[in-house]
Amino acid sequence: MEFKLYDTLTREKRVFTPLDPANVRMYVCGPTVYDFAHIGNARPVIVFDVLFRLLRHIYGAAHVTYVRNITDVDDKINARAAEEYPALPLNEAIRKVTEKTDQQFHEDVAALGCLPPSAEPRATEHIAEMRTLIERLVKAGNAYVEGDHVLFSVASMPDYGRLARRSLDEMIAGARVEVAPYKRAPMDFVLWKPSKPGEPSWPSPCGIAAPGRPGWHIECSAMSWKHLGETFDIHGGGIDLVFPHHENEIAQSRCAFHTPVMANYWVHNGFLQVEGEKMAKSLGNFVTIRDLLRDWPGETVRLAMLQTHYRQPLNWTTNGLREAQRTLDLWYELTGDAAPGLLCADTLDAVADDLNSPKAVASLHELRGEAAKGSKAAAGSLKASAQLLGLLQETASEWAGFRPASISIDENKVTALIAARNAARRVKDFRESDRIRDELAKIGVVLKDTKDGTTWEIAR
Ligand SMILES: [Zn+2]
Repeated sequence: MEFKLYDTLTREKRVFTPLDPANVRMYVCGPTVYDFAHIGNARPVIVFDVLFRLLRHIYGAAHVTYVRNITDVDDKINARAAEEYPALPLNEAIRKVTEKTDQQFHEDVAALGCLPPSAEPRATEHIAEMRTLIERLVKAGNAYVEGDHVLFSVASMPDYGRLARRSLDEMIAGARVEVAPYKRAPMDFVLWKPSKPGEPSWPSPCGIAAPGRPGWHIECSAMSWKHLGETFDIHGGGIDLVFPHHENEIAQSRCAFHTPVMANYWVHNGFLQVEGEKMAKSLGNFVTIRDLLRDWPGETVRLAMLQTHYRQPLNWTTNGLREAQRTLDLWYELTGDAAPGLLCADTLDAVADDLNSPKAVASLHELRGEAAKGSKAAAGSLKASAQLLGLLQETASEWAGFRPASISIDENKVTALIAARNAARRVKDFRESDRIRDELAKIGVVLKDTKDGTTWEIAR
């Protein structure tokens, strides 16, 4: 078997060779804990869980270290804390917000069938490592102190921009860079900044008297160093993190350690849209993982996600969820409580080919076909192979026992639409009758035409 991964840095799919097969190391940028995670946050969590499972399969569970950080110091957290707990001192309010959100996140991703990472370091527990890195960078001439800030000097690194493949001018034009009096050049970015009164603060590095707090990018360089070393195998995250976050992580880590690379493979999942539109609170199509888990089993959400290759943009639709639900119903029906059998070579090859999950799902459909003809071996193999993707992990009775908590359908509206469709059918306006059937399908209602009239049911 050959395992290949697409590397954003070199823009090519390459055979994966770990630095040390006895300890394969992966770092993935985790959530900023201030609110319920949304479906866009779920994508990298699921994608890198599949990669984690594949690595464990190839190298053995004891030989893979997966680190996913938790960002618990951030302006968004401060703002949310002040808004939600105005009567509390800010530090206490922040602790409440981060603890609550952290717990919600863990409940959500466990429900999506994701394995816990090997370590989940928190930014606030790695301030000492960040200070050490910052002091090294200043000493080496890659960073400078100005007005109680420490900034990374982009001009000090000739390779800057290699991951994003943009020139300095393009980066300045594209990144809406903040102009600030303490910056020597527009693209220079903050490693450390002074805290405002009441904000969390720590003793500053480089002899700065005022207490301060770290910039965002430095935390990942510090935590990956602490838990994985100066150079490691895989660094992952959403495609939106390529620039500036990952570009800046590379700059910090490589300049601090004088290494040619920070990680050997940069793996990024594509964007996510909802029903063909950008997801935004202002558009009213903002979907949290929690919302979805009220209506659908976690595995359904997971399969709906994996039906698109991780590097492709994903269009999240209710129809995709329904399709995933029907597929899993069929698979559970056939596998029942059978013991996992042999892992199917086609499924493994597909996952090992840059995590080609749609192809892996196609191989599972083939196994289902054979199992439906009565092959017990195929049923066992379907179960084992689906588990490589983190699917078919429940018992048949657990699966059958799931009931959506909040499917709400306006019955009067359904009755009126069915009457309008019947009227259209009577005058042979089939275009209109089909349109109405599609409209009902969109809200989750499936029609059945019988001799005695039209009945309907809620699609699952
Ligand atoms: Zn990061």
